[in-house]
Amino acid sequence: MEGCLTARDRVGIQDFVLLDAYTSESAVLDNLRKRFNENLIYTYIGTLLVSVNPYKELGIYTKKQMDIYMGVNYFELPPHIYALADNVYRTMLTEANNHFILISGESGAGKTEASKKILQFYAVSCPSTKLLDNVRDRLLLSNPVLEAFGNAKTLKNDNSSRFGKYMDIQFDHMGGAVGGHILSYLLEKSRVVHQNHGERSFHIFYQLVEGGEEDLLRWLGLERNCQRYSYLVQGECAKVSSVNDKSDWKTVRKALSVIEFSENNIESLFAIIASVLHLGNVTFVADSQGYATLNNSPEIHWLSTVRHVGLTHRKIEARSEEVLSPFTVDHAVYARDALAKAIYGRTFTWLVNELNESLENKDSSRKTVIGLLDIYGFEVFSVNSFEQFCINYCNEKLQQLFIQLTLKSEQEEYEMEGIEWESVPYFNNKIICDLVEEKFKGIISVLDEECLRPGEATDMTFLEKLEEKMGGHPHFVTHKLADQKTRKTLERGDFRLLHYAGEVTYCVVGFLDKNNDLLYRNIKEVSVPRTLAGTVATQFKSSLVGLTEILMSKEPWYVRCMKPNEGKQPGHFDDVLVRHQVKYLGLMEHLRVRRAGFAYRRRYEIFLQRYKPLCPDTWPNWKGTAAEGVECLIKHLGYKPDEYKMGRTKIFIRHPRTLFSTEDAFEVC
Ligand code: ADP
Ligand code: MG
Repeated sequence: MEGCLTARDRVGIQDFVLLDAYTSESAVLDNLRKRFNENLIYTYIGTLLVSVNPYKELGIYTKKQMDIYMGVNYFELPPHIYALADNVYRTMLTEANNHFILISGESGAGKTEASKKILQFYAVSCPSTKLLDNVRDRLLLSNPVLEAFGNAKTLKNDNSSRFGKYMDIQFDHMGGAVGGHILSYLLEKSRVVHQNHGERSFHIFYQLVEGGEEDLLRWLGLERNCQRYSYLVQGECAKVSSVNDKSDWKTVRKALSVIEFSENNIESLFAIIASVLHLGNVTFVADSQGYATLNNSPEIHWLSTVRHVGLTHRKIEARSEEVLSPFTVDHAVYARDALAKAIYGRTFTWLVNELNESLENKDSSRKTVIGLLDIYGFEVFSVNSFEQFCINYCNEKLQQLFIQLTLKSEQEEYEMEGIEWESVPYFNNKIICDLVEEKFKGIISVLDEECLRPGEATDMTFLEKLEEKMGGHPHFVTHKLADQKTRKTLERGDFRLLHYAGEVTYCVVGFLDKNNDLLYRNIKEVSVPRTLAGTVATQFKSSLVGLTEILMSKEPWYVRCMKPNEGKQPGHFDDVLVRHQVKYLGLMEHLRVRRAGFAYRRRYEIFLQRYKPLCPDTWPNWKGTAAEGVECLIKHLGYKPDEYKMGRTKIFIRHPRTLFSTEDAFEVC
């Protein structure tokens, strides 16, 4: 019966809003699968773009494709990331306001690729002058630099971003890209000293060792052999077939020069990277009293004397005197790793600052921005620790933002405008955000309190405090608090959160330590400036509050990225896996709101101002109220009654096509 299938049966529908069937999860899944099997990885829900990672090159990102999508009405061509990029850009220019594109999805779903495609599209489609081209190159090249220092091979993704990234692209009123600004979130520093089996440290280390010029390596005292460096082989996977460290090194070196890092800065940068590798090879032995002394290794030559002292002794203050107290071997290893992490973390921060300096637009004229948010998706591993706790909390916050900016605000607007509306139910995850972040009561507060009791508090006392405070909360459970059935699935050192996206069990081991991120005081003094104020979780919380504020003032657009399977394989669509993502990416809620609602709305004044030339009665001047003018205008244009609604201050238009035909008429006229 193949031949009887219509094109629509075969390739599915390009906008879920137009799906006839009752909008069930299964119908959405069927549509996604059909399209995926035809290499159609993009589908819309109104203006939201759903993308399924094809894990193969599709030839759809060529210059020719970019040209096709430039300046064309959004729904006239098959869905594409370029169509979204173009739509955002043109809306920004017409309305002279700020926007952001939130790209979400789990690790390996294609977020970073999507954000790169958007940036590349702007690089080609925006106006070009010598000056603008210079900014464009810097914007584009900041990517390989950040990826070298912030990405790594993990089990889920050979090029996994190990930090969250928000990047503003600034445009002048003619649409030229004139500058940019990057914010980074929670770099996974622990990767510098430890990697799970099958994973690597950050790319830059391998790039330097594999690709670094002979002279440079000699100067840094490095051998061209990753196996020599303890920090690079924790995951026993220094080589990755899909990654070419040598050529990536060249790209990064070139990028650093284009971005105008001085040769001095570049040298210092690699000297620091090399010193982390040397540090990782430092070992300790116990002396006759059991205290740590440096094992005699050639690496010591590359570390300064002050650092030696920092690695084997702690400075303590006793009766207003400073005394050096010796470490045990375990302590010394801990101090060494803490130092390596701190050096790397601060180098990354420095790097982002340098990039920002290079991208800064010094001209003070009015600019509008498009922000790109490429941030870690929801993570569930077999063992989840402090890092997953922070990442999943971040996802709760972003879901809350989505609810506020899209689900809630949409419904409130209809109400305010007096538009008849059947409200769409959704789960408001504020209760989970509060559970994590509420002042004095939330999990982060409890964690910080325990961090203030050094010597007394442990990960287990933290868990007990949580049980005391959170007992009975519908989204929190532990072994002690659980009913018999659930108890079997929990260890004593676990707590489980019922996230909006599903349950995650966290193991408390290491929470206090990671939240404290302590460097023994004397190490901090000798090697890195003291800037630490709050704990890690609290700093992260406030950076997320900052991010929310930045985003709240802009118009949201969404790209939801999905993984078709866990094996990074092309052509394989795992129903269970995709269904789960459909659920937690909030697609069903979004679809319901979109189907019930109106794609476009404009204030009467703005609508009339733009389209009044289309009607002899409204052109050139309309004497009555703007609402009456719009009414007269759309009668003239022949809008059907179910196509629009008149609110208190705005006109609401159900399908984007209606507005497009008006827009086309406008262009003809
Ligand atoms: P994330 O940032 O969501 O963790 P990435 O964007 O790094 O995931 O994508 C992981 C890998 O998947 C990429 O390295 C690439 O091999 C593949 N990939 C992602 N998006 C696409 C795409 N649109 N076309 C082809 N391959 C893709
Ligand atoms: Mg990524």
